[in-house]
Amino acid sequence: MTEDTRRTELLKLCEERIPGANLALIKKAYEFAAIAHQNDKRASDEPYFSHPLAVARILAEELPFDDVSIACGLLHDVVEDNEEYTYETIERNFGEDVAVIVEGLTKIKEYFKAAEINKAENYRKLLMAIMQDIRVIIVKFADRLHNMRTLEFLQPEKRKRIATETLEIYAPLAHRFGLGKIKWELEDLAFKELNRNAYDDIRKKLNLKRDERAAYIDKFLEPIKNAVEAKDIKFEVAGRPKHLYSIYRKMIKQNKPFEEIYDLFAVRFICESNDPNDCYTVFGISNSIYIPVPDRFKDYIAMPKVNNYQSIHTTLIGPEGRMVEVQIRTRKMHEIAEQGVAAHWRYKEGSIGKDRNVDGYVQWIREMVDNAGDDDLKKNIIENFKLNLYENEIFVLTPKGDLERLPVNSTPVDFAFAIHSNIGHHCIGAKVNKKIVPLDYILNRGDQVEIITSKNQHPNKNWLKFVKTPKARSEIRKWLNKEEEKFIELGKDQWEKKLKKLKLTIGEAGLAKILHRNKLHNQRQMFKMIGQGTLSADKLLEEPKEKEHKLLGSPSVEFEDFAKSARGSGGELVVDGEDIRAMLSYAKCCNPIPGDDVAGYITVGEGIRIHRKICKNLIEKSKEEPEKVVSVRWPELENSSFLTGLTIRGEDSAGMLKDIANTIVSYNNTSIKSISLDTGDSFFEGQVTLFVQNLEHLSRIIEKLKKIPGVYSVTRMNENK
Ligand code: MN
Repeated sequence: MTEDTRRTELLKLCEERIPGANLALIKKAYEFAAIAHQNDKRASDEPYFSHPLAVARILAEELPFDDVSIACGLLHDVVEDNEEYTYETIERNFGEDVAVIVEGLTKIKEYFKAAEINKAENYRKLLMAIMQDIRVIIVKFADRLHNMRTLEFLQPEKRKRIATETLEIYAPLAHRFGLGKIKWELEDLAFKELNRNAYDDIRKKLNLKRDERAAYIDKFLEPIKNAVEAKDIKFEVAGRPKHLYSIYRKMIKQNKPFEEIYDLFAVRFICESNDPNDCYTVFGISNSIYIPVPDRFKDYIAMPKVNNYQSIHTTLIGPEGRMVEVQIRTRKMHEIAEQGVAAHWRYKEGSIGKDRNVDGYVQWIREMVDNAGDDDLKKNIIENFKLNLYENEIFVLTPKGDLERLPVNSTPVDFAFAIHSNIGHHCIGAKVNKKIVPLDYILNRGDQVEIITSKNQHPNKNWLKFVKTPKARSEIRKWLNKEEEKFIELGKDQWEKKLKKLKLTIGEAGLAKILHRNKLHNQRQMFKMIGQGTLSADKLLEEPKEKEHKLLGSPSVEFEDFAKSARGSGGELVVDGEDIRAMLSYAKCCNPIPGDDVAGYITVGEGIRIHRKICKNLIEKSKEEPEKVVSVRWPELENSSFLTGLTIRGEDSAGMLKDIANTIVSYNNTSIKSISLDTGDSFFEGQVTLFVQNLEHLSRIIEKLKKIPGVYSVTRMNENK
């Protein structure tokens, strides 16, 4: 394409897009800039002039403003790149307006050249330059947009800086000027540069769902379309372009996966008539077809946003119960939403030129600069500047220079979890701008943060006191809960083993008493403390036993009575087939009773002592002097029953005695010889003597007794000694 055809094409575009444009001015600027840049090259090795030309095209096509801004787009790099050209040269050739704008643009570039995007003074100067003429920022947006679109040709270092600057400064500024479309493109381009993985991931997922979503939207729209057409309202239904960065931000902010964020559908009605009443008609029709979600209706037509945005927002419940966000606006409102100040300017008939105070767009800048004293300049201006869109958020950098966006007052722990949950789980300290800081250190905008991790480090409860991000918070909670579960499991296990060992059974009510006595809130807390080793199962069980024993006296005395009677009732012992009853005594260590497997041990002077076969003393003695052990058995008696004794422990309650008695007598061939219950401190210990047919019979009764609510343990009278 020759220089001539390029120029002709641009002029044609300007003529189309900006009625009454001063084409001579644009033509002159074109020729002037082409010559000024004739020896320069871009990073892409193209002739440099391709850049100002592209900027001019953006200004004509994408944010059409006026002829002066297009001329300035062509000239915006002339003064900086070429020492021959000065403010005076431009003023002489193009007049004061163009000279002021070009000078403003040149200065902005200088302010930020040092890459010190955090310097408050630079912001102030930028704002002052915009105040000189609002078109400064319009041309700057076009310039930045083209630079971002052609970012790939630059060095990585420079790309990062420009992308960061775009995200921090130009995107919020575009939002403030109502340039929705520019803002989104700048954000997505910067996002792509700064976090390529996340960008690609979201884009891939968006593509996957495209067809399915389009089909659903069609189904949703059909009845509305038909009804609106019947009212003779001309409208366009626009799919809402998906801005990757806004999806990403929502995912981060709400800590939700892509699928949940993107489960919302969105459509937009644009009424061609520019009559707001049509919007309300479409709104009424939509709401009569689908149920609106309460509290989701916003009328920005009656109450425009600060940046002049107007639209009706509503959310409807579509087919299959899925939510659809609906925006309704006129064509003019739509253009203002997309092109902000540029569209506004266009709709303001005639008055192009030095009316710099375009309907409040500049007002906020003026207020910001005027109200900031020198002392709090840095604080206020930077804060205010970024406040519009990203209020309460800061950017910090990874050691590699990647950008992380965090809420204000975030700490290294928030940062660590933002990078990766694994880093968060093991972070032990951090370096901020190469200096070691504690984990609760408050990060500042622009800090470079490096996390120090340790394999042995884990999240702890204190972290919850200072973290700011939902992600860090939920990850820490998750970990603590998991850790707690581990201790609870461990404690429960220890507790159950202990009960098994002691042959104890403790019911709900009994447990409640133990909890109460130890001032514990619930079983989980008890198990957790046992698991952590801060409370021992022994101690929990010990206390009531001691009290019982004190109160109840020694059960061994009663056992003597019981044993005498039991032994008498079981018939004679047979020792090696002979009746040698006179020489028998009963071992106190294991207290055998009829029914037990027994063996005899020959003593000096006390005849044969009868032990249970499982008695430890007997086992030991038989190892030392096996010759002294003789086999002994109770005589087998048909239809006879043995007397046996049980000790029952548990919590005292009305009806306990009755429950125990009923349980025992509910067995055939079982009768109670005696039963006594002693209570103390809400616990009881009871002795029951009863006749059973054999050991199997007895163990069935024991099992049944253990199932009585409130019974902790049932033991043979001698067993717990
Ligand atoms: Mn440029």
